[in-house]
Parts: sequence; C-alpha cells; structure tokens
Amino acid sequence: MSTSEILRVALPVPLPQLFDYLPPGEGVPARPGGRVLVSFGNRKMVGVVVETSAGSALPAERLQRIEQVLDDGAQILDGKLIELLRWCWQYYKRAPGDVVASALPPALRSSRGRIPDPPQHYHLTDAGVERLAQPAGRARVLHAMLKALETGPVSGQSLAGIGSRWRKTLATLLDQGWVEAMPAPVPEPDTRPGPELIPDQAAAVKSVLAELDHFRCHLLDGVTGSGKTEVYMCLLEEVLSNGQQALVLVPEIGLTPQLLRRFRQRLGLDPAVIHSGLSAGERLASWDAARTGRAPLLVGTRSALFTPMPRLGLIVLDEEHDASFKQQEGFRYSARDVAVKRAAELDIPVVLGSATPSLESLQNAGQGRYGWLRLRERATRASMPAWRVLDLRQQTTSHGLARPTLDAIGQTLERNEQVMVFLNRRGYAPVLMCQSCGWFGSCERCDAHLTWHRRSGRLCCHHCGHQRRVPDLCPDCAADALVGAGEGTQQLEEYLERCFPDAPILRFDRDQISRKGVMDEQLDEVRRGEPCLLVGTQMLAKGHHFPAVTLVVIVNIDQALYSADYRALERMGQMILQVAGRAGRSDKPGTVMLQTLHPEHAALQLLLDKGYEAYASWMLEERNMAGLPPSGYQALLRADAHEKQDVERFLRSALAVFPQGVTRIFGPMPAIMERLGGRSRMYLVLLAESRSGLHGQVDAWLPRIRELPLARKVRWSVDIDPQEL
Ligand SMILES: [Zn+2]
Ligand SMILES: [Zn+2]
Repeated sequence: MSTSEILRVALPVPLPQLFDYLPPGEGVPARPGGRVLVSFGNRKMVGVVVETSAGSALPAERLQRIEQVLDDGAQILDGKLIELLRWCWQYYKRAPGDVVASALPPALRSSRGRIPDPPQHYHLTDAGVERLAQPAGRARVLHAMLKALETGPVSGQSLAGIGSRWRKTLATLLDQGWVEAMPAPVPEPDTRPGPELIPDQAAAVKSVLAELDHFRCHLLDGVTGSGKTEVYMCLLEEVLSNGQQALVLVPEIGLTPQLLRRFRQRLGLDPAVIHSGLSAGERLASWDAARTGRAPLLVGTRSALFTPMPRLGLIVLDEEHDASFKQQEGFRYSARDVAVKRAAELDIPVVLGSATPSLESLQNAGQGRYGWLRLRERATRASMPAWRVLDLRQQTTSHGLARPTLDAIGQTLERNEQVMVFLNRRGYAPVLMCQSCGWFGSCERCDAHLTWHRRSGRLCCHHCGHQRRVPDLCPDCAADALVGAGEGTQQLEEYLERCFPDAPILRFDRDQISRKGVMDEQLDEVRRGEPCLLVGTQMLAKGHHFPAVTLVVIVNIDQALYSADYRALERMGQMILQVAGRAGRSDKPGTVMLQTLHPEHAALQLLLDKGYEAYASWMLEERNMAGLPPSGYQALLRADAHEKQDVERFLRSALAVFPQGVTRIFGPMPAIMERLGGRSRMYLVLLAESRSGLHGQVDAWLPRIRELPLARKVRWSVDIDPQEL
C-alpha cells in the first residue's frame, strides 16, 4: 500500500491503542485532527484521526473504511494539540480515546454535534441606504432595522430587539439585497489603565515581559492581597495587544462573575468562558470561538486546558496549589503539569500564581527551573493580619465557639466591621447520634458518617450522595434521644443568629450556593460594607476580596494535624493562610482567631510564627528524607470492587508480576476511605528516585496486569503523581 493510506483513529473505548481504518470511499478526505464516524464492532462511533500510516499490522481483509468524515473535513484539533494529547496518554497511561475525547467539548462527542457556523455581522448595501432614505410607510419594523444598521456593521444579537419577528425581517432585508452578511470581526482589546503597580508587582511584570517570546515557567508567589490579578492583567494586556491569544485557568469556585467583570473592565473585551456549569451549546460556542481565533481571551476551569488556540501566547494558572486542578477520576491528569507541558511545546511563557504554592512548584523555583517572582507586600499596603491562637482545652465551647471568640465577634460588629467564620463542614451536624445507646448514622456504602441536614430533615453522605430521612427515634434502641454531634455551617449560622440578632448572616457553602445567582447576591451584599457575619466552607477562602472583613475565625482544623495522608499538612497550611488572607485587606488591620486543641503542634507553630515559606521548606525537607514527592516520584495502582477479597487478590497478583527495577512497591493497602459508594478501594504504591525509571517499569508492567484473570473483574487504573490516597 502507498503511504498515508491507513488512518489511525482514537476511539472512546478503554483500550490502550489507536485503531486502523481505510480512507472513506468518496467525498472530503479524512485528515489528522478531524472527526470521523466509524464502525467499531457492531456500533458506530465518533473518533478523531490522530495520524496516518503507510501500513497496518492488520490483514487487509479486516480493515474497514471510515464511514463518514464529519465537520466537512475540518481539522478541529491542531497538530501541536494532538502531540500534547499523545504525551498525556503516554505519561498518564490512559487509553488514547479517553484522552482525546476529553479534549472535545461534550457536544462534539456524538455524531449529531457539529461545529457552529461562524457568527455574522450585517451591514447596509448602497441599495439599503437608498431604501432607508425613502419614507418608512407601513414597513415600520423593516425601516427601524435599516436605521439600526445605519451607523455600521452590527451583530445579529443586537438586532434581536427589533420587532417580535426580527429574524424574518432580517431575512427579508437580506433577500432584497439591502443588507449583506459578513464574518464578525475579531474583537480587539480596549484596555483601561489599571491601578499603579507597587515595586514588587512592577518587577514581576517586567520579568515575564522580558521573556515573552519563548518558554519559561514563572511562579508568581504573592501573599494574599498582593495584587496577583493586576500582574496577570498587565501581562494579558501586552499579549493581547500583540494580536496573540491567552488562556487563563482558575479553580472551579474561583470563576465568578466578579472575575469576568474585572477582565471586561480592564481589558475591554468579553472573555470566552468554559466551565462545567455551562450548557453543552454554550461550551461549544466558547470552544469554537477560541479554536478559530475569534476569542482573544479564554478563561476557564481545568477542562478548558485542551481548547485549541491557534495564536496562544500566554497561559496563566491561578491558585496553582488548588487540588481541583487534578482530575480525580477517569483520565487522572494534573492541569497544572499539562499546562506547563503545553507552554513548553508551544515555546510560550506560563505563569503559575499562588499565595501558598505547592511544594512541587516551590522546589522547581528553588532549583532555578522556574522563575520565582515574589510579591511580599500587599498592593494596598495593608499590613498582614495578626494571629490569635485559642487553646480549646482551656475553654468551654458552645456550638463549637469559645467565649473569647464570641466576644471578639461582638466587638468587631460593634465597630461596624465584618466577620468571617470558617468551618470546612457543611450541613447542620457531621453526625447524628443516640445519647442512650451510642448509635450513630453512618453510610451503608462508605466508611463515612451521614451528615445531618436539619432544614431538609435528611441525613446525607457527602461522599456518595446517599440520602435518607432523619428517623424520629433511634433505629437501634427506639429511644427518643437523637442529637447532633459536632457542628456544621448550618448550625453555626443558627447559633450566631441567636447571639447576634441584629447582624445579617450570609452562609456560603455548597447547599446554600447551589441556586444560581445566590453567590452573587450575597457577595454584593458583603461588598456594600455594612456590618455582617459570613459563615462558610472553603468556598469563602478562594480569592475573594472583602475589604470590610477585619476578623476571621477558623473554627477547627485539628483533623489535618494527625491525618494519614502525607499531603494533609501541606493542604492545612494552604487553607489556613488562604482563609486568613481574607482579613484586613484595606486600611483597617485584621485579626485571625484560630481555635485548636493542639496549639503546641510543631507544624502549626512553625506556620504561624515563621510563615508559609519556612513551613514549606520544613515540609520539603521531611519529604526529601522520606523520598516522597516532590523529591521522589510516585504512582498508584488503584483498584476497587464490591468484594474486598477480589480487590486484594487482584492487587497481590499484580504485585507478583511487577517487573524488576529500582522502583519500590508497597501494599496492598486500603484507601483512606476504604469503602466508598458500596465498593472497597485499595491500592499499591510505587515510589522511585527517577521519573524515567518509574515510567519504564510501569509501561512494562501494564501488559502483564491486563493479562491477569481478575483484571476484568475489578475496576483498576494507574494514577501517576497522585494527589490523594
Ligand atoms: Zn439508641
Ligand atoms: Zn456514602
């Protein structure tokens, strides 16, 4: 066969390979990066052509033709992006079809979805100008639309208000030749000057701008309130005015209307937006605007990372330490690491920003692989908040709050300032228990307590979603003695309402914010600056700017101090500082009260006395001594099944076929939450000093695992650079 006669296609099936097809018999040719419809077994599937090949290992009679070329043969994923995806499936040991599918907007994963037509603008022809000069007569709507077009080309959207049947009117104008359609122009940034930069910010901007024309990863390590966003804006301004595109990635809960408004005001254009809360149609429109270069700026969450952008000149990833950048199921990739890889392949800069960088990034910065841009001062010149640690062993508490905490809240409200109370547990109480026999509500499917949601009268598992009605009497001893143990955000809200009846209370957690618009309403109320109490989970911790908050209360962080997960202390430190960073961001000084049963804990003392950088270098040393990431390289073989013994037997047999090499392997051991959603979860841990050593052995191991009889009975996957155990 002659060259490029075989097309190798990624299909959404869990097999670690591409599939060979012959070109379609007629019509537009299929080409790499384009979508095709093929037969696979007795099903029809949408795939993406990844490459062409001169020949196939399959005998000619088994090769089938591609049935249909979709999107008129358009190349929807460019060559660079295909290479990035190839790197991903090799690095993360995932089926190519899974990885390629995740790069497509959901609407394009089926054959019914198609690339939208490019948006049109409309303008008057000479004949249209003549018609407009004549009296409107009875064609008043028609005339009004011509009038609206008089000042220059406009979008269909801006004609939408003219008459109830504006589409029909527009069609008439087009038919008559009075109006012509043309492709909508690419919006140009129209930037407004930002606030004057303080020296740290100016130096950071200068460093990145000096290296805009090649790959460099910059860690923007700036304390809370240091104005990282304004640094991004200055960089975006430059990149967009050079005619390039930019991609900004933020954590899911950081993508707020306020942030988008800020981009709009500062840069003078509407960013295209991609996140999981959009409809399939909206996502497709944003994706296509970025792919065709019509959108200069794309702002999105993790999944926006794989959007094709032909003139991409800069990637910004904000809150780079945030756990939501790691996908925790299916194709388990780190959006941070893949963003750095994408920038390297494109030879463009990438900026990772955080007030509390991950140990991985700090190590890369410390060793000179990343540029290290420090912002040590708050942009408003506000001072950092003062700490007050409250030893709970010396205090009686009521609904989780000690007397001095309540006093401090009262005094702050009296000064007409705002208070934020942080508790990372939503619901009313984390457990419902019987005071008579000790029964407590636990999930039948998980190793977890059921959280009591009093208002809805339900017990809910926050891990698998299981729910049931709250029983009236104890299910075990029938005593009327059921009480909540511990506190959730709902209970705190109720208690604070009783203590401070005059202060409005705003709750921020997933239950409260689930209704669209509630978050914005509440944020607007906080911004008005009247005295109020904010109660919430980590949703409050992320990036918000609340100038009138001067007291932050952290109710409880103790479980992190003695967790079995070696990353728990890193996350605890990040969370405490992110929450504390909400305090005292304007002219009034802020205070943070931290309630704990373990004020003497060495890690906590280091964090509070010496700050995050000292805390992080201590953790890096500890990891280094243990050979743990980022000093070593880790992977997990995860497995789960209904029967625990199947999982254990599978992992033991996988262990037995692990190839010789330098990688150490441990287990099987149970996941920290062993039962989840009715399945038992266990894993093997692999730890190596070299990345290539680890990957070489895993690559040799995988075909052997697939041969194991139990490999079809349990669900299993490899997790490279795991973030949770
Ligand atoms: Zn009981
Ligand atoms: Zn559950």
